[in-house]
Amino acid sequence: MEFWLDLNDEQTELRDWVHGFAESVVRPAAAEWDEREETPWPILQEAAKIGLYGFEFLANTWSDQSGLSLPITNEELFWGDGGIGMAISGTSLAVAAIYGSGTPDQMVEWIPQCFGDAADPKVAAFCSTEPEAGSDVASMRTRAVYHEATDEWVLSGQKAYATNGGIAEIHVVTASVDPSLGSRGQAAFVVPPGTKGLAGTRKLKKLGLRASHTADVFLDDVRVPGSCLLGGKEALDKRLARAREGQRRSGQAAMRTFELSRPAVGAQALGIARAAYEYALEYAKNRVQFGRPIIENQAIAFALADMRTEIDAARLLVWRAAWMGRNDKPFAAGEGSMSKLKAGEVAVAVTEKAVQILGGAGYLREHPVERMYRDAKIYTIFEGTSEIQRLVIARAVSGVQIR
Ligand SMILES: Cc1cc2nc3c(=O)[nH]c(=O)nc-3n(C[C@H](O)[C@H](O)[C@H](O)COP(=O)(O)OP(=O)(O)OC[C@H]3O[C@@H](n4cnc5c(N)ncnc54)[C@H](O)[C@@H]3O)c2cc1C
Repeated sequence: MEFWLDLNDEQTELRDWVHGFAESVVRPAAAEWDEREETPWPILQEAAKIGLYGFEFLANTWSDQSGLSLPITNEELFWGDGGIGMAISGTSLAVAAIYGSGTPDQMVEWIPQCFGDAADPKVAAFCSTEPEAGSDVASMRTRAVYHEATDEWVLSGQKAYATNGGIAEIHVVTASVDPSLGSRGQAAFVVPPGTKGLAGTRKLKKLGLRASHTADVFLDDVRVPGSCLLGGKEALDKRLARAREGQRRSGQAAMRTFELSRPAVGAQALGIARAAYEYALEYAKNRVQFGRPIIENQAIAFALADMRTEIDAARLLVWRAAWMGRNDKPFAAGEGSMSKLKAGEVAVAVTEKAVQILGGAGYLREHPVERMYRDAKIYTIFEGTSEIQRLVIARAVSGVQIR
């Protein structure tokens, strides 16, 4: 069996195409949208127009048997800018939930609607986190109650920190159907456009990723048709019956859903880290102190050597996990979590070092490393904090239910 790490022609073309968009459209607009703290709709429209945002593009990246197309795309896009990158990528969280839990009919109906079309792009939101249920997903309080007479589900509760919450065409909302079963009593629902009772009125002001909209979402007797339960009622009833009988859902199956999405998130962090490293490298070659470029000091050159080494190490973990996911390899040691953990921590460390290498200039908004430093921090927090990633890895490698 051959082994190689070269990208094939299609992947190279994809990387260069996304990089071109990131360089010519995203990067020049990054500071403006960071200041405005708004979704950059004109850039989303541009991405949709050229085919970089939409159902077809996502389907194409998913079809790559190596699994690398999605991480390659994310790294380049987020190299352009983290906030705008998330404004473009945030929809994929909802899409992944529909893809992961929906029936084939539900996928065909809802996934294209998440993106809208090239002339009128839309965004989607995945609303799972709650004020009292962050890392501890099992303590979710949002309730979903079934009304048999009308074949409707009624959702009530509050969701926190939802990317695209309130501005989305489609909201995917998780809720507890049977609180006594903890996380095994939960289900996910599509809330179609224009549904009464859903409001994302509290927009949140953030440290970074400020071009990406984040909001608390309130659900006040939100009524959705029975067909909006992802996976369908029959499958849910069977799952609940198994849980009530005390049968556990396979730990592997539950873990795998998260493990699959983590390398794509790690690749986003990687893009921000690489952007900061490249900027600091150029700066260090040009900035003269004590009569010589600062890169001639080992303290600076070695820092850059470490930054590059860590970025490359993180990329290898991201690519490995993406390849494993696409080729149905078991994540026996939490390799998906490893990739997100490493890339997130590397992004924080590398952007901090980049600020240091620029000195006072690095602290100013005139240079992008200041924004990259703020943007990077989210990668040790969302999609499972670094501590939760370590928990997953530790449990996987030890077989012990570590707390
Ligand atoms: C910008 C942004 C966008 C987001 N987008 C979305 C979104 O689109 N959809 C969505 O559903 N959510 C979203 N989130 C929510 C995000 O996933 C959560 O913030 C995250 O999961 C952590 O939950 P928490 O904030 O409640 O922290 P907590 O769970 O309260 O954790 C606080 C601290 O305690 C630590 N901790 C908790 N439990 C343990 C443990 N057992 N062992 C060790 N340490 C522990 C954590 O690691 C963390 O350091 C977003 C958040 C932000 C900031």
